Amino acid sequence: MAENEGRRYTLPGGATVSFKSSQMVTRLEWEDTPIISLMSYYLKEIYYTLQGEGAQSGRAAVFCRFSGCNLWNGREDDRASAVCTFCDTNFVGVDGVGGGVFPNSEAFADAVSAVWPSKMVNCKPLVICSGGEPLLQLDGAAVAALHRAGFEVAVETNGTRPVPQGVDWVCVSPKAGAPLVINRGDELKLVYPQEGVDPAMYADLAFTHFFLQPMDGRHRDEATRRAVQYCLEHPQWRLSLQVQKLLGIP
Ligand code: SF4
Repeated sequence: MAENEGRRYTLPGGATVSFKSSQMVTRLEWEDTPIISLMSYYLKEIYYTLQGEGAQSGRAAVFCRFSGCNLWNGREDDRASAVCTFCDTNFVGVDGVGGGVFPNSEAFADAVSAVWPSKMVNCKPLVICSGGEPLLQLDGAAVAALHRAGFEVAVETNGTRPVPQGVDWVCVSPKAGAPLVINRGDELKLVYPQEGVDPAMYADLAFTHFFLQPMDGRHRDEATRRAVQYCLEHPQWRLSLQVQKLLGIP
């Protein structure tokens, strides 16, 4: 740990600077605002595919799966006691295709750029930051670096962490028992049904699109039937299918 860790210095005039360091972040802050951030980013995988879900379904994108989540630790032994119990994603570690530890925002953006096909024209490159929970790591420096690399930046989040400035597309997928701190965005995508969750709880939030996505698993057919019925009765909501699973693409 750095010897200045946690120290706060008061400058002439009363302003303060502080230095924070951990395994993932070294940061100098001015009045609690980051001014220098040297952060490592932990990615399970980075790959090129088609977005399979929600309003941007069918669109080519670089998909970044950040390691780690705040609602489950990823261990099967702990699933039953986790806040989120139906996860279908392996977000543990950095050993997937294109995964790794990227020492700063530029290295992360370079890795994303390397995956986007170089000869694309007449389109805006899209990167989708997912996880795990991407907002445990994605910060303003990473968003800015992705913008400098020419990308439109989308996030898919459980909605329990604030969104850094500059993100172009915010998709929130609420989880039962996890209070939302994001109550506006482009897309609210609710996995349905979830015990203790009624879509009406979210219907007045400031999102442009509202999707119900049938819960995958043993009861998927029943979940799909119920999601279809709900959308028929509440046209504010549209059905989102996980097209990537239907097509067998990553
Ligand atoms: S919040 Fe998302 S990434 Fe985290 S455990 Fe639930 S489904 Fe998985």
